[in-house]
Amino acid sequence: MTTTTDLVSYEDALASYDPVMGLEVHVELGTKTKMFCGCSTELGAEPNSQTCPTCLGMPGALPVVNAIGIESAIKIGLALNCEIAEWCRFARKNYFYPDMPKNFQTSQYDEPIAFDGYLDVQLEDGETFRVQIERAHMEEDTGKSLHVGGATGRIHGASHSLLDYNRAGIPLIEIVTKPIEGAGARAPEVARAYVRELRELIKALGVSEARMEQGQMRCDVNLSLRPHGREKFGTRSETKNVNSLRSVERAARFEIQRHAAVLNGGGTIIQETRHFHEDTGSTTSGRVKEEAEDYRYFPEPDLVPIAPSRAWVEEIRSGLPELPLARRNRLLAEWGISAADMQSILNAGALDLILASIDAGADAASARKWWMGELARSANESGVPLDGLAITPEQVARVTELVSKGDLNDKLARQVIEGVLAGEGTPDEVVEKRGLKVVSDEGALTTAVEEAIAGNPGIADKIRGGKVAAAGALVGAVMKATRGQADAARVKELILEKLGVSEG
Ligand code: ADP
Ligand code: MG
Ligand code: ZN
Repeated sequence: MTTTTDLVSYEDALASYDPVMGLEVHVELGTKTKMFCGCSTELGAEPNSQTCPTCLGMPGALPVVNAIGIESAIKIGLALNCEIAEWCRFARKNYFYPDMPKNFQTSQYDEPIAFDGYLDVQLEDGETFRVQIERAHMEEDTGKSLHVGGATGRIHGASHSLLDYNRAGIPLIEIVTKPIEGAGARAPEVARAYVRELRELIKALGVSEARMEQGQMRCDVNLSLRPHGREKFGTRSETKNVNSLRSVERAARFEIQRHAAVLNGGGTIIQETRHFHEDTGSTTSGRVKEEAEDYRYFPEPDLVPIAPSRAWVEEIRSGLPELPLARRNRLLAEWGISAADMQSILNAGALDLILASIDAGADAASARKWWMGELARSANESGVPLDGLAITPEQVARVTELVSKGDLNDKLARQVIEGVLAGEGTPDEVVEKRGLKVVSDEGALTTAVEEAIAGNPGIADKIRGGKVAAAGALVGAVMKATRGQADAARVKELILEKLGVSEG
């Protein structure tokens, strides 16, 4: 199926219109049990083995709220600078969907547990942009449908569908922004930065691993355009379930170009959901959007209202960890690096790894150097994320320790890392097996230096005559003779000593 969508260039779109965005992020909480029953949330179990009358929607089954689910929602709300409701209820959102056995989703409607907050996010150049938060509310996930017998795994062309209700009832928090205005051409970048900051925040709070590639966190991107100078928002499209940071940015960008083409052609945008396609970076039409009143929301009669005491809320607030932006600003000052350096560390997914190596004993500069240099390169080449490399932060710390003790130089350390990545064992095992040790035996070094001088009499004369810079060539010869295993600085010292010249 090939459909082409008219687009105008990004620059032309921005020349006429201002984008307005709304981001709705669903986060699956990492609770041990589901939101309204005691079923396990463990991934990878046999289909339908983690179900009970409540999450299967059997007549007469009654839900009970998961207290950790509420505590997690309050943590997220507080970290997003929200008010926490003194009293709120769950609501039924009624619609039919095969993977939702109750025929309604237990959610929150006009009484969310957290509301009116903001999150400061950092852009590539280190600038901060404040995203206003409308609400964060609790709800539950649906089950999963598997369409079988077709080529694409989609319902079209499938011969039958299978249903797995293990996911039905897993706690979700939905975080909704207020309309994001004023980002201009940087709107897609703001969207990406927001989702990233939110992910870091959720991870720091310890309420979810927020792995987008596993669907633990997904984002709906609402977007509309309005002509410059106009107050009223345009009609939005809603691109559903975008599941990577890069895709969030691309989806927003694509929709800006698509909306502009429709509007320039005198057409109207219809309010609809859309699907994002990773392979082409484009979106296609989904379904025409329901209005809230279509869901016949009403307060959930089977659950008591939630009234978190102020004392409990304050206790949760005082137990919050240092939040990611504050932590990054602190590290930036401690390490003496620029905001842009910090952005590259974040982009590489290296911050936690660097910190773990420091925890394991590496000094900050060396930990940064290896993760952002050799290891980032290696991850790039093999197309895996940095934390997917076959080396642990502790092993990186061990390599830096061997360097600082003088057992390895940088060149040898690179070979050790290469060996660890290739599965040859721990750093110490690789050193042992490959025989990688700095030659610090002065006798052996002296012999190598003498041989280099004897083999290069012309260069030796130049150095004797005062051209100290020429010593580099002799150092090179010694390093070659020792297969890179000598300490270059010590070799240079020995050469100058032998030739009776002093460095400066
Ligand atoms: P729904 O659940 O129907 O998608 P919500 O109000 O929960 O509606 O979420 C809509 C999101 O889109 C919110 O983030 C909101 O700020 C944003 N939004 C609302 N109107 C517009 C608009 N015209 N253009 C862009 N974003 C919008
Ligand atoms: Mg929505
Ligand atoms: Zn259950």
